[in-house]
Amino acid sequence: MTTTLEKQKKLNENETEYMLEAVNLAKHFPIKSGIFQRATGHIKAVDGISLFVNKGETLGIVGESGCGKSTAGRTFIRLYEPTEGKVLFKGRDISHLPESMLGRTVRKNIQMIFQDPYASMNPRKTLKSILSEPLITHHLYDRKGRDEKIAELLERVGFNPSFINRYPHEFSGGQRQRIGIARALALQPELIIADEAVSALDVSIQAQIINLMEDLQEEFGLTYIFISHDLSVVRHISDRVAVMYLGKIMEFARKKDLYEDPLHPYTKALLSAVPVPRKRGVEKRERIILKGDLPSPANPPAGCVFHTRCPAAMDVCKVVTPEFKEMKKEHYVACHLYQ
Ligand code: SF4
Repeated sequence: MTTTLEKQKKLNENETEYMLEAVNLAKHFPIKSGIFQRATGHIKAVDGISLFVNKGETLGIVGESGCGKSTAGRTFIRLYEPTEGKVLFKGRDISHLPESMLGRTVRKNIQMIFQDPYASMNPRKTLKSILSEPLITHHLYDRKGRDEKIAELLERVGFNPSFINRYPHEFSGGQRQRIGIARALALQPELIIADEAVSALDVSIQAQIINLMEDLQEEFGLTYIFISHDLSVVRHISDRVAVMYLGKIMEFARKKDLYEDPLHPYTKALLSAVPVPRKRGVEKRERIILKGDLPSPANPPAGCVFHTRCPAAMDVCKVVTPEFKEMKKEHYVACHLYQ
C-alpha cells in the first residue's frame, strides 16, 4: 500500500505532499486482567490503515459503530499513541514527535470537533473564557487582541457577540457545536478532524452546521477529515471516502467512484441500506442484509475480517488476508474478488 500511495503522490501533479497521510497505522489497546493487570490480549481498534487527504479536500471516514473510525481520528492527532505505522502531516512524520514539539506542529495545526462539544466545555466558564483558552495556551495576542479575535470568531460562526458572557448550558445542541467550531478555528488550523460532529443534531440543524463548515472551508482553505456513520452526510461533504470495518479500510476512493461504482461487498451492503428516492423507469435497488454481528476487535476473524458476514465469501477469504490494492485510478479495495 505504501508504494501505491507513493506512486499516487508522484502522479498528483498539483500537490507535492498530502495534508495528512496514514501509512499502515495501527492502534491496539491492551486487555488487562488479574491482580497484576497483565495484558492478556489486544483490542485491534485500528489495524494497519493507509489513506491520505489532500490540502483543501474533505476525507470522509465511514463505518458502523465500533469499526475504529474514531480511534483512527484520535490517533491521527496523537491523542492516542500509534502502536505501529506512521502519520505524516504535510510530509512530516509526527507519529513519534516528543510531546514538547507536538504543540507547535500538531496541536495548533490540527484541531478536532467532537460529537458532544458540551462534554469538553467547563460548565463554569463563560463562552468568552472557553474561546480564550486556546489563545492563552499558545500565547497568541494580548488581552485586547484576544477580545477582537473572539468577537471575530463568534461572528464567523453566526453568533451574536452579546452571548459572550453566557455559559454552555444556556446554548442549544446546534449552538454548542458552533462554539466547538469557533474554538477549533481559534488557532487557525489547516486541518480539522470532525468526529460524528453532526450525528446528535436534528436534520435541519445538521444541514446548518454542514453549510457552515463548507463556507469556512472555502474561506480559510481548510482540510477536513469527517468521521461519521451516516453515508448520506459523508456523501454530501466529502471529496474522498474511506470505508472502515473492524479496524481496517475496506475501500477508499473518490466520492463519485465509491458511491456510484462501489467494489467491496461491505460498501455495497452499506449503500444498499441508504434510502434513495425512486426514479421512474429505474429498478428498485435490492437491499443487502448482512448476517451476524460485528465480530469483536479483540478476536478478529482470520483472513478477510469481513468473511463471517460477506455474501460473496469464498474459501480463500477465511485464510488469506486480501491486499489493499489500487484497482482503478485512486480507487483502493481490499477484497479477493478483485485479486
Ligand atoms: Fe467478501 Fe472475500 Fe472480498 Fe472479504 S475478500 S469482502 S470475504 S469476497
